[in-house]
Order: sequence, then structure tokens, then C-alpha cells
Amino acid sequence: MEEINNNVCTIVLDKGYGCFEDVLQEKNIYDSVLIISDSNVYNAQGDNFIKNLKSKIIYEYIVSPGEDTKSLDVYEKIIEYCVKVNLSRKSVIIALGGGVVGDLAGFVASTYMRGIDVIQVPTTLLAQVDSSIGGKTGINIGNFKNIIGSFYQPKFTYINVDALKTLPENEFKSGMSEVIKYSLIYDYYFLDYLIDNSKEILNKDIEKLYYIVKKCANIKAEVVGNDEKEGGLRKILNFGHTFGHGVEKLCKISHGNAVSIGMNMAFKLSLRERFIEEEYYNKFLKVCESYDLPIAFENADEQSVLNIMKSDKKNSFSKINLVLPVGLGKVEVVDNISEDLILDIIRECK
Ligand code: NAD
Ligand code: ZN
Repeated sequence: MEEINNNVCTIVLDKGYGCFEDVLQEKNIYDSVLIISDSNVYNAQGDNFIKNLKSKIIYEYIVSPGEDTKSLDVYEKIIEYCVKVNLSRKSVIIALGGGVVGDLAGFVASTYMRGIDVIQVPTTLLAQVDSSIGGKTGINIGNFKNIIGSFYQPKFTYINVDALKTLPENEFKSGMSEVIKYSLIYDYYFLDYLIDNSKEILNKDIEKLYYIVKKCANIKAEVVGNDEKEGGLRKILNFGHTFGHGVEKLCKISHGNAVSIGMNMAFKLSLRERFIEEEYYNKFLKVCESYDLPIAFENADEQSVLNIMKSDKKNSFSKINLVLPVGLGKVEVVDNISEDLILDIIRECK
């Protein structure tokens, strides 16, 4: 077990749930615990997690898997449940699951009785390297994603990489896009590691999983520690996401696949602007190939992709903010690229 600590987050890394109770006792003693999970995660991980929990009063609230669960309706039902079982400020909510459960449970915790403690126990690769770190919570209203939410730091995030063993293949690969993203925005040598160890990582070798998750958690913690409320540095985490957002919505592909296509667009633009060398771009192509991640989209027109990019809430003063590679393992936020050029690049990735 290892701990990552900074001014905003505490992350515990483990290869099982064995140390969870010790960490819990060390941080706080709670009267009762409410585990929020979805049915897939609960079936795959629930028993294993709960058998290590020694708290006397344990409640469980199991939701349906999927993005639709991040709704006002489910939120309200959980709040009603919290009232029914007398959850108090001496209670803690444990979010056992992927980003959906983490965002929803985090939002419940941040608003119930003006805020009770929450612990994130992420079980997808995306949640372990991204959504469970940094304190963003939220739910959707209709088509507006994460439109209601809060910045609310968990008491700690407990990452058991062994949980990834039961994660479906497509979800694992989708998370790999985010892992690759970290190497491209922060750590060029990590990119080599990912290329050289792709077979073992795809076979879910526990030591390799531990290494890559730790690396990404460290990077996310450092970025968030320097910019908790997304004023500047945190924007680099958006690499591949602005371009990706359009294709994700229009082509109905997974988030991870949209991010790899989005990163390809950003790379192509940087290459065109001569921010980077061809050799670096080829390495990017190689890592995508190693993890079988797409770099092109179909079934959408480029203007519609651009329109969605323009509506991104992360743009400032109606200019499209793009995170572009500017060197090996280095990106910058750029807002002066013409729409014509962006359109051209999107067209090239079809
Ligand atoms: P998810 O939570 O829907 O999980 C994906 C699927 O895997 C689900 O069907 C789930 O039941 C299943 N699953 C999860 N862990 C499992 C395990 N160990 N074994 C077996 N099955 C398992 O999806 P996700 O990709 O983790 O999260 C996506 C969500 O995260 C989106 O709603 C997105 O908005 C949010 N998100 C939030 C942040 C943030 O900073 N808060 C960042 C990125 C994404
Ligand atoms: Zn993402």
C-alpha cells in the first residue's frame, strides 16, 4: 500500500481491499456507512469489498449501471433513503464503482445535510486515473452533462487495481485512452513504457497495472493540487477532449475512443502548425495501434463536429480553446486557430 498526498487530495493505492479499514480508522471513526454502487460493480466487487469492512452499521444503495443513473430522479431517491436510515454528519458515503457512481455519490455527499464525508473507491480504469481524483461531482439534466455539480474533495480515494480484473475489456481499453493522455501531456518517458509493455498491460498484469495507475494518479493529483478549481493548468487534462467531444456525441462511440480520435486531431493540427516533429506523431500512432484505439471517425460531417466543439463550456470569450502538443510530453492551451483550419483537420480524420 502507498499513499499520495497533497494540499487537496489523499490517494491510497493497493492491490486488494485489505488495508481499507485501517485507512478508514486512521482518518476518522464513523457511526454508519452508506455504500453506493451499481449492480454490475456490486456483483463483481461487493462481497470482496464488504468482507474487509468492520463498521457496525452498513447500508447499501444499488443503482442501475449506466449514464442515465446520473439523474435528478436517482439523486432524489438516494437522498430520501439517506433520510430514512438517519444518515448524519457522522456517517460516510462510500462510492464503489466507476465514474457514474463516483459523480453521483459525490454529489449526494456534497449536498446532503450541507455535506457529509465521501470516500471514493473507483473500480474502472477511467475512474482510478481520472474521475475519482480532483473532487468534481455532478449529475445530468436531460442532455446537459454534469450541468449540476460541485467541487467536493473526498476524504480519500482508495484505488484497488485488482478491481480492474473484473472490468469488461471495452471499458478497460476506453480507460487506456486517458492513461495515454497523461503520457502525452506530462511524461514522455511514460509513453515509451506504455508502448513497450502493452501486451502485459492488456493482459492486466497486476504489477504493470499498479505502475500505470500510480503514475497517472500522481500526475492528476499534481495538476489538481496546483489548480483545484480549473483556472489554468487543469485545462491540459482536456487534451483530446474538445475535438473528441463532437465525435463522441455524434457518432455514439465510447468516451475513450472519442478521446483517442480527438488526440489524433490535436496531433495533426500541431504537425500542420509545425509545433511538433513527424517522428513524435508516429509514436503517437504506434501507441494507439498497440492498444487498438481508433484515430478516425465515420458517420458525421465535419461542420457538426465543429459546432459541438464551439458549444463547449470550457471555451472562453467564444474562442475555441484547444490543447495541442507542443513538444515531447508537453501540451499548451491555444485559442487562436482559425475555424477553417480546424474544419480541415477534422475532415482529415474521417
Ligand atoms: P461507468 O461508471 O458507467 O462504468 C462503466 C461500466 O463498467 C458500468 O457498466 C459499470 O457497471 C461497469 N463496472 C465498473 N467497474 C467494474 C468492475 N470492476 N467490474 C465489472 N464491471 C465494472 O463508466 P466510467 O467510464 O467509469 O465513468 C464515466 C463517467 O465518469 C461519466 O459520467 C463522466 O461524466 C464521468 N467523469 C467524471 C470525471 C470527474 O472528474 N468527476 C472525469 C471523467 C469522467
Ligand atoms: Zn475523459
